[in-house]
Amino acid sequence: MKSMTVTGPIYENQLGMTLPHEHVIIDLSFLFQESSTAGIADLPVGAVDRRVLCLNPTISKDNLVLGDATLSVRELIAFREAGGSSIVDLTLPGLGRNPRALREISIQSGVHIICGTGWNAELTHPQIVKQASTDDLARVICSELRVGIEGTSIRAGIIGEIGVTGPITRNEEKVLRAAARAQKITGAAMVIDTLPLQEENCIIKALDIIEEEGADLSRTVVAHCDFDSGIDPAYAKSILDRGAYVEFDGFGTERPDYSEWIQQSPKLMLPTDAERVKVVRELTQEGHSRRILLSHDTCMKYEYGTYGGAGYSHLLQRIIPMLKEEGVAENEINAMLVENPRSLLAYFA
Ligand SMILES: [Zn+2]
Repeated sequence: MKSMTVTGPIYENQLGMTLPHEHVIIDLSFLFQESSTAGIADLPVGAVDRRVLCLNPTISKDNLVLGDATLSVRELIAFREAGGSSIVDLTLPGLGRNPRALREISIQSGVHIICGTGWNAELTHPQIVKQASTDDLARVICSELRVGIEGTSIRAGIIGEIGVTGPITRNEEKVLRAAARAQKITGAAMVIDTLPLQEENCIIKALDIIEEEGADLSRTVVAHCDFDSGIDPAYAKSILDRGAYVEFDGFGTERPDYSEWIQQSPKLMLPTDAERVKVVRELTQEGHSRRILLSHDTCMKYEYGTYGGAGYSHLLQRIIPMLKEEGVAENEINAMLVENPRSLLAYFA
């Protein structure tokens, strides 16, 4: 079986250690928030106190954009040197997806990059999502997987991340249905992006919708299972019960200081990596290692190693030792970092 990268098809066994949920090029400027600290908004990330960004990552405009190819290449070379081989970039239209830049970065860094297709949450939808029918949107997704993206010959290799907020909006439901139809036609895997603290059962509703359209839940990933509520194994299990993959993709982003963080952002209680590792161990002990994916969801500059952040090699360098310490077996770690992304990304002969 083969997978589609931005430089063309490769055999699944060429994927190697793969990060299934990252961003190499992305523009999150729409998240920008004016802060009371004068002057911070327009400073380059390197000139801002890192602790300030950890508490308030959206008050620096520079922090919200990954768009410097040289910088991304440097970070990806560090990942390759740590033993990494492939990375999935789930940036979609409306968030600065740039397949040509990804192709260049892949060639220069020697890391395979798989590009996503579809649309994220309502807030980021370009005009086409509002105007086109479900079938038209499905056709766009199929064409990006089979022909090329936006007039290029660069093809997507995965559907997602498809964004849903709680409650799921009309246009988000349309995109979910289109993604499910495209998955049924092409066999490509799908990633759904939501946050556990969204309206209760929002993700279950999303899974119901795509299942109704004939999507294969065993080739569907639920992202961000480790963002809110200090990480809840019950949430992960409700997804595993449906046969989908649970993805812990927040590794490297931890709540900086509990009390201060709660004050700043009462709804978003990030877990620590140690807490993530414990839940992963609990789930692997119950035999779920073949349904778990791990990643960093790198999407802001302060997460790059260059600026003191975790970088793309954090799982390889710092989390694997923690997993081993907790008693997670070598073959289970290999399943989560190599075999699971490989089965997910391989879908055509
Ligand atoms: Zn993401």
